[in-house]
Amino acid sequence: MKKLEGKVAIVTGASRGIGAAIAKKLAEEGASVALCARNLAACEATARAVRESGAEAMAMAVDVADTAQVDACVKAVLEKFGRIDIMVNNAGITKDGLLMRMTDADWDAVVDTNLKGTFLFTRAVARPMMKNRSADGSAQGGSIINITSVVGITGNAGQANYTASKGGVISLTKTVAKELGSRNIRCNAIAPGFIRSDMTDSLPEELKAAYMANIPLKRFGEAEDIAKAVAWLAGDDSSYVTGQIISVNGGMVG
Ligand code: NAP
Repeated sequence: MKKLEGKVAIVTGASRGIGAAIAKKLAEEGASVALCARNLAACEATARAVRESGAEAMAMAVDVADTAQVDACVKAVLEKFGRIDIMVNNAGITKDGLLMRMTDADWDAVVDTNLKGTFLFTRAVARPMMKNRSADGSAQGGSIINITSVVGITGNAGQANYTASKGGVISLTKTVAKELGSRNIRCNAIAPGFIRSDMTDSLPEELKAAYMANIPLKRFGEAEDIAKAVAWLAGDDSSYVTGQIISVNGGMVG
């Protein structure tokens, strides 16, 4: 039996990059997966690829910063699959700029997507996860996995909005673990280092070289490196792990 057989997962930002790799990995491990992003066509294309592993997948257009859309998404997933066991808050954006020149709009867009979006989905799935029961009636709970960033731990010049949002995700993760632990709902975060994706491909070559100089494993990470860590946190192999921030960064920051 596959490790996530019978489980239902929501993955935000699943149309491409790290989120798409996470959706594929969870499906390979046997989970049914709901994929969310703003661009429905891109999300549907990824959902088709996810179905190739034999798993069930649904695609939805959702802006994670919009309460009504988030609540409607959770309702639709419950109607289709009947339960939610795994929530992966992965959707994220950057709008970089030095603090002195950062606009309110760039601050709000990044914090609303990265931090508020994580809060909204966590709040929406908490109750359905509390209702999950094992055959013997004990609380089965669920696993919430937030994608933060190495710079949410270290800070980074030119990313006040992004680092504050990712630092907020770290403390939100620890609080949710404390609030929901008694219901067997675990909440952990993964802090990726430099992972190859649309988000990082556009960075200047000299900046990429500077990052590489600080990576002991001497390669940039792949989306699948993050997906493997998510699959572990999603399943029972990590059943005594909660409130943790797991760095997957090639040794970039100890
Ligand atoms: P990406 O390739 O730019 O993909 C971002 C995903 O998020 C897309 O599916 C995008 O789809 C979705 N998204 C953005 N805003 C959204 C919104 N408001 N509502 C719903 N979906 C939204 O980024 P990535 O590199 O895979 O990054 C994924 C996560 O890892 C992010 O949280 C990022 O901060 C984090 N991370 C990445 C790295 C890295 O090196 N790549 C390092 C550390 C942390 P739509 O545009 O269609 O909505």
